[in-house]
Amino acid sequence: MSGTNGTIDTTNTAGTANPVIVVGSGPTGLLLAGDLATAGVPVVLLEKRPHKISNLSRAFVLHARTLEQLDARGLADDLEAAGRPLDRLRLFTRLTVELDTLPSRFNHLLVIPQYEVEKVLERRAVEAGVRFRYETEVTGLAQDADGVTVEVRGPGGKPDELRAAYVVGTDGMRSAVRNAVGLPFPGHSVIRSVVLADVKLAEKPATLLTVNAVGDAFAFLAPFGDGYYRVIGWHRGRNVPDSEPLDLAEIKEITRLALGRDFGMHDARWMSRFHSDERQAPAYRVGRVFLAGDAAHVHTPAGGQGMNTGLQDAANLGWKLAQVVHGHAGPELLDTYQGERHPVGRSVLRSSGGLVRLAMAKHPWTLALRAALTTVLNSVPPARRRMVGQITGIGYRYAAPRGAHRLTGTRVPDVALENGRLYQALRGGRFVLIIPKASGASESYDGRGGGQAGGQGAARKGRLAVERWASDRRTTVLVRPDGYVAWAADGADPAATEAALAAHVG
Ligand SMILES: Cc1cc2nc3c(=O)[nH]c(=O)nc-3n(C[C@H](O)[C@H](O)[C@H](O)COP(=O)(O)OP(=O)(O)OC[C@H]3O[C@@H](n4cnc5c(N)ncnc54)[C@H](O)[C@@H]3O)c2cc1C
Repeated sequence: MSGTNGTIDTTNTAGTANPVIVVGSGPTGLLLAGDLATAGVPVVLLEKRPHKISNLSRAFVLHARTLEQLDARGLADDLEAAGRPLDRLRLFTRLTVELDTLPSRFNHLLVIPQYEVEKVLERRAVEAGVRFRYETEVTGLAQDADGVTVEVRGPGGKPDELRAAYVVGTDGMRSAVRNAVGLPFPGHSVIRSVVLADVKLAEKPATLLTVNAVGDAFAFLAPFGDGYYRVIGWHRGRNVPDSEPLDLAEIKEITRLALGRDFGMHDARWMSRFHSDERQAPAYRVGRVFLAGDAAHVHTPAGGQGMNTGLQDAANLGWKLAQVVHGHAGPELLDTYQGERHPVGRSVLRSSGGLVRLAMAKHPWTLALRAALTTVLNSVPPARRRMVGQITGIGYRYAAPRGAHRLTGTRVPDVALENGRLYQALRGGRFVLIIPKASGASESYDGRGGGQAGGQGAARKGRLAVERWASDRRTTVLVRPDGYVAWAADGADPAATEAALAAHVG
C-alpha cells in the first residue's frame, strides 16, 4: 500500500509503513517531528510548499512556558540570543503586567519573529533525521485498524499514497487532515479587517511594545530587532474583506488615531489584511489521527498565544507517541493528549477573545467591565497571577487521577539538582526521576547497576535520568519528558517508585 514519488523512500528498511507522518512544517510540525526523531521514531514530514522559511513573520513572541520547553531541548539559549526580552506586557491603558517576578528561569517574554523559531526547529529536526517531503500536499486520508493511508499530490502534481501507523495534522487552520477525518471547526470571526505590516520607522518609540486604543482605532507596535517593526492596526469603521487592497497610508492613519503619531513608517516589507477567527475542533484525536496547533484551534492574536499553544501541543504529544510506537506504553496513553490539551485550547480561546473584546470596548457597560477588571487585576495578586499564568503558559496544570499526589499533573520549574538543573536533565526527551539526597543506591531504576529491578531498569537506559535534589527536599518526583509531574510521593519508597516507573516509563 505504501508508495514513493521516486525521490525519497518513505518506507522504513523493513518495507513496512512509517510509524508517524506529520503533515505541515510550521512551528508545531517542526517541533513534533524533531521530538519524534530525537526519540528514535522514524518520521516523515509532509509540506505542500517548496522548502523556504518565509521571513514574513506571523507570530513574534515566545512565552515563558515555551522557552522552558525549548530549554529542555537545548534550543532556548540560541533563541534568547536572537530575540529581545521584555519584562512587562501592557494590556490596556491602565493595565501593565510585570513579568520579572514570574517563577520561571525565563521571567520575561521574548520578542522574536516566527521565522527565527522555525529556523532553529528545522535545523534540529534535520539533525535528528526527520525525512522532509516538500511540494507534497495531503489531499485525503483513510484509516483502518492497522494504520492510515495518506493521499498526497507530490511535486509536479503527481498523486501518491503513503502509509503510517499514526498521522498528525499540523497543517494550519484550513487543515486538510481535520477535514479528511470529518471534524468540524466550529466558531466565528471575532475581528475583521485587521491590518498588519512590517515597516521601518523614522522615529523610535519610547517603549519596546507600544499599544493603545482610542475611540474606534487600535494599534500595536513591536520591534523585530532587525530594523523592522511589526504594526498591527484595526479600525471599527473599516469592515472590509481580506481581499480589499491595502496601502501604507491606511496603516499610518489607524496608527495616528490610536497612538497619536505614525512614527514615520516607511519601507513596508510585508502588508496584509486579515480577519481573526475563534475556532476549536471538538476532538484532537480520531482513531490514529491527531490534530495540533492551528489545525486544532485558532484565536485572536491578543496575548501572542497562537504559536505558543501549538508548540505546547507538540511537546505534549511527541513523547506520548514515542512511548506507544516503541511499545513502552499502551495506546490509551494517547487519549490523555485530548484530555490535557483540549481544555488548554478552550482556555486560550476564552482569554485571548476576552482580551481583544476588552481592548476594543466601546459601549458604557463594556468600558465599565474593563475598568473593573483592571482594578481587580491591579489590586488582587492571585487574580493577576492567574492571568499571567494563562498568558505565559506557566499556570496550566493537567488533571490528575483521583487519589494521586497533589503534585501530579503540575508543571515543574527548572529546579536545582545535585548535578545541574532539571531542564538540562530532560534533554533527549527523557523522563527524570528526582529522589531525596539521602536516598540509597538509585542505579537499579535506570539500569546503571543491575540491582533489584534487573532487566527492567536496563530497558529504561537512555529514557530515564535519575537525579537528586540539590536541596534537602524529601519528595520523590517522576517528571515527564514535557516537564509535568507524572507521579510523586512524600519521602523515598523504592518499591512504590519502581512501580511508578514501570507504569509510566515502561
Ligand atoms: C496574519 C497573522 C498574524 C499572526 N500573529 C500572531 C501573533 O502575533 N502571535 C502568535 O502567537 N500567533 C500569531 N499568529 C498565529 C501563528 O502564526 C500560528 O498560531 C502559528 O503559525 C501556528 O503554527 P502551526 O504550525 O500550527 O501552523 P502553520 O504555521 O499554519 O503551519 C501549517 C503548515 O502546514 C502546511 N500545510 C497546509 N496544508 C497542507 C497540506 N494539505 N499538506 C501539506 N502541508 C500543508 C502549510 O504550508 C504550513 O507550512 C498569526 C497568524 C496570522 C495569519
